[in-house]
Amino acid sequence: MDGETQTKYIFVTGGVVSSLGKGIASASIGRLLKARGLRVTILKFDPYINVDPGTLSPYQHGEVYVTDDGAETDLDLGHYERFIDESMSKKNNATTGSIYYTVIRRERRGDYLGKTVQVIPHITDEIKRRIRNVATDGEPREVVIVEVGGTVGDIESLPFLEAIRQFCLEQGHENCMNVHLTLVPYVHAAGELKTKPTQHSVMRLREIGIQPDMLLCRVETHLPEELREKIGLFCSVPKEFVVEARDVESIYEVPLIFEEKGVADKIVERLHLHGHEPDLKAWREFVYRIKNPSSYVRIAICGKYTELHDSYKSIIEAFVHAGVENDARVELKWVASEVLEKRPPEDYLSDVSGVLIPGGFGERGIEGKIRAIRYARENKMPFFGICLGLQCAVIEFARNVCKLEGAHSSEFKDDTEHPVIDLLPTQVDVENLGGTMRLGAYKCEIKPGTLAHKAYGTTQIEERHRHRYEFNNAYRKQLEECGLIVSGVNPELDLVEIVELRDHPWFLGVQFHPELKSRALRAHPLFRDFVRAALEYKHRVEPEENGDNGLE
Ligand code: GLN
Repeated sequence: MDGETQTKYIFVTGGVVSSLGKGIASASIGRLLKARGLRVTILKFDPYINVDPGTLSPYQHGEVYVTDDGAETDLDLGHYERFIDESMSKKNNATTGSIYYTVIRRERRGDYLGKTVQVIPHITDEIKRRIRNVATDGEPREVVIVEVGGTVGDIESLPFLEAIRQFCLEQGHENCMNVHLTLVPYVHAAGELKTKPTQHSVMRLREIGIQPDMLLCRVETHLPEELREKIGLFCSVPKEFVVEARDVESIYEVPLIFEEKGVADKIVERLHLHGHEPDLKAWREFVYRIKNPSSYVRIAICGKYTELHDSYKSIIEAFVHAGVENDARVELKWVASEVLEKRPPEDYLSDVSGVLIPGGFGERGIEGKIRAIRYARENKMPFFGICLGLQCAVIEFARNVCKLEGAHSSEFKDDTEHPVIDLLPTQVDVENLGGTMRLGAYKCEIKPGTLAHKAYGTTQIEERHRHRYEFNNAYRKQLEECGLIVSGVNPELDLVEIVELRDHPWFLGVQFHPELKSRALRAHPLFRDFVRAALEYKHRVEPEENGDNGLE
C-alpha cells in the first residue's frame, strides 16, 4: 500500500437484541476481505466503564482474552485472531472507561487549557483518535473494521455512535461504510417473520445521523426476497444490501454464507477496494472437516464455571481446531470441580478419554480438580493442565507422589507447610488488582526430547500469560527426583512454564494459556497432540469393533 492510499473503515453495529454475533460477523467480514489479499484489522469498542475486563467476574463477562502485548481484552478479540489470523494488540480494544481515563488524565495535567471538558468534542475526539490509531498500528492497513459493543439505543453507546457519525463525515462517504446487524424474528402465533424491530433499530441509528449501508438480518432459516425488499424500502437500504444471515451449525460457516450472499463483493464495490479473487479453499476444507469427522473423542473439562461456556471460549474453539487436525469431533464433557469433591472421580471420568483443567482463580473446587488429576495420572489418561491446571497438577504430584503432606498454593493457604506454588516475586508489592498480573507473551525454552518439544517441533516458543502465582523453584529438585519433568522454562527469570511426567503417555501442564494462540487454520500444537493422545487412549481402552467409530 503506498502512502497515498486511504484506509477504508467499516463500522459494525447491532440492533434489536444483544448476542446476535456481531463479533463473529465482524471477524467473518475480516476473513473474506483478507481472502481477497487485503490487509485488515479489527477494533472493538466496549461501552462499559471498567477500564478493561480484567477485573470483571466471568459471570459478567466471559473469558478475558490476553494479547501478546499484555492487554486484557474482550473475548471478541479471540474471534478476530482465530478468523483473520492476525495478532491483536492493546490498540484493538477500548472501553468507555479507558477513553474517559485518558481524557481525565489529560484534564488533570492541564492539557485542555481552562476549557470545559465535554463528551462532544473531547470524548468523541478521543474515540476518533483510537480508530485512526489502529489503522497505523504497525504496518498500514487497507481496511479497519470497528465493532461497537452493545445495542443501538443503549445510552452507553451514544458517544461512540456520535464519534462514528463525525468520523464518516470527515473521512468521506466513499471511505466509510456502516453495517448494521439485526434480528428478523419468526412469531409463531402469527406464523410470520417480523421486520418491525429492524425498522425501529435503523430508525434509532438514523436519528443519531447514521444511515446504514448494509443490513445483515439474522433469521432462523430464510429471509424471502419480498421481505428484503420491504426492509430495504423502510430503511433506505438498496435491496441487494439487505442480506439474509441465517443460523448455521458452526460459527466457522459464517464467512461462507456471507460469501454466498456476496457480502464482501458488495463491500469491495461500495468502498472501491482492490482485492483479488477470494481464496477460501482452505477455509471451505476446514468447515467440511468440522462437519464430517471420521471419529470422535470425549474430553472432560473440570472447572469452576462449567455452566458458563463463554468463560472458556478460546479453549472450546482450540478443541474445534485440534479436532479437525485429528479428523475427529471433540465432545466436551463439563464437570464442575465441586461435584468431584463429593463423589469419586470415576463416576464422572470413566467415560472420557482425557481431562483438561483450565485456568481459574479462587479456592472453590480446587480439591475436586486435584482428585481429577490424580485419577488421570494413575489411570494413564491424557491430562492437560492450563495455568491453574498446572498449579493443581504440581500440588497433586507433591502431595501424592513426593509425600509432601499439605502441599498447596499460597493463593489458597498462605501458611501452608509446602508452598509448591507461590506468589511471583514481582507480585509481592502489587496493590491494585487491575492490569497487574504477569500478562502477555513471554519466552519459553523447551527441553529437547519432551512431549512439549515433540508438539512444538522447536525449543524456542512464546506464549501468553495471565497469573500471579508460579511454580516454587525451592521444590524443583525434589519434585524432579520424584519423576516430574520440567520441560519448559522462561530463560530470563528461570520460571517453570511446562511440566510433564515420567511414565505417563501424555501428561502436561502449562503456566501459560495456549488456547489464546490457536487459530482456525493453525491448531495449537499442544491441543492437537492432546486430542491425538486422547484418541489413542480411547482405542487402547475400548478397541473399535466392526469399524464402529462411535458417530451417530
Ligand atoms: N490463580 C492462579 C494465579 O493467579 C492461576 C491463574 C490462571 O489460571 N489464569 O496464578
